[in-house]
Amino acid sequence: MPLIQAPRGTFDVLPADAARRAVLQSHAERVLGGAGYRRIETPAFEATELFARGVGEATDIVQHEMYTFDDGGGRSLTLRPEGTAPVCRAYLEHGMHKLPQPVKLWYLSPFFRAEAPQRGRYRQFWQVGAEAIGSPSAETDAELIVLLSELLATLGVRETRLRLSSLGTPRTRLEYREELTAYLRAHRDQLSPEVAARIELNPMRAFDATDATTRRTMEGAPTLLGRLAPEDAQHFVAVRELLDGAGVKYELDPRLVRGLDYYTRTVFEFTSDALGAQSGVGGGGRYDGLLELLGGDPTPASGWAAGIERMLIAAGELPVAPELVDLFVALGSRDGAREAFELALDARRAGLSAQLELAGRSLRGQLRHADRLGARYVAIVADQVALRNMESGEQHELELAAVIPTILRGSRLA
Ligand code: AMP
Repeated sequence: MPLIQAPRGTFDVLPADAARRAVLQSHAERVLGGAGYRRIETPAFEATELFARGVGEATDIVQHEMYTFDDGGGRSLTLRPEGTAPVCRAYLEHGMHKLPQPVKLWYLSPFFRAEAPQRGRYRQFWQVGAEAIGSPSAETDAELIVLLSELLATLGVRETRLRLSSLGTPRTRLEYREELTAYLRAHRDQLSPEVAARIELNPMRAFDATDATTRRTMEGAPTLLGRLAPEDAQHFVAVRELLDGAGVKYELDPRLVRGLDYYTRTVFEFTSDALGAQSGVGGGGRYDGLLELLGGDPTPASGWAAGIERMLIAAGELPVAPELVDLFVALGSRDGAREAFELALDARRAGLSAQLELAGRSLRGQLRHADRLGARYVAIVADQVALRNMESGEQHELELAAVIPTILRGSRLA
């Protein structure tokens, strides 16, 4: 029979990798929990409508990348491609606006996007994310950025860069788009033909051009950051001052855009030069318009998401604590099978990690196996019980009931 493989763009988390992920999770727990963020878990699938509204009908994600299926009863469901819309849905569904605001939540969950797989880009991937719902303050944005920055630093994610900008309001963006389009039209003969052809379609693209002529033209172009309304500009200054005070370095990048109307004010993205083409490690920003779009009252909110696989690739070595085995219970003869089984159970109840011989090895084979596991002690159970200290090689006979107390005392079996 041909072997069945994991679907394209997916991967198995094998035990060594699971250990690194557990380290990442415990760092996230400490960093985010320490700032009052509490864990939330939402379903792996949601009503398709949630993402159509909450991610945006016109986005690549909704247009091309969603795993959507009929639940059999004519209802369209979608494997979640991202976490913000589901968390906001949960906030509204559970009346969390009645709690003290902001409600600060974090998650670590798998997400699904039908993208072309490559290193750092998968069809099932994990993100850790944080959302603060119910606060408009610059402190909320700055705190969120500092928390992601600290998580990356704790993990040893290498060569990170933070790009920062502000999008103002949808209205400012609309006016700015018209101004930029007018500028591009007026300078049409100083743009590359590709950029010139796309002026009406996507004027922001002109900032990404690589040819020298277009770049020179764009140096004189108006920027959104230069057009912010006074209260938005003030909010951005406040975010920047808080980041400066916290010693978080960033580059202003007026090209950082999010295509959707519900994004407002702060946007940011962390990249790592240690990654290849897929250099985005995590990012986010303020989305004051989203909760209303999902049927709630207008509610200011801010958050980010970061990719676990990319953080782990860019982190290189992570110190993973070795797995300890306190006791390996070996069988000296079949007669001891029941006592051996119970000894392992008792040892675990006493708080020791204990493993039992399960493969019918010879006694020699069992000792070799225990050594490979790094077991501190081996109890050889037959008519008699012998306890061997694997580090010193000492071995003594003793009562079955004395095995666990002896290990707990850590005595040298003198
Ligand atoms: P986004 O939700 O698109 O803003 O992505 C946030 C972060 O999730 C990115 O910076 C990546 O680290 C990670 N990410 C997004 N899409 C994928 C994917 N297909 N595979 C792996 N990681 C991803």
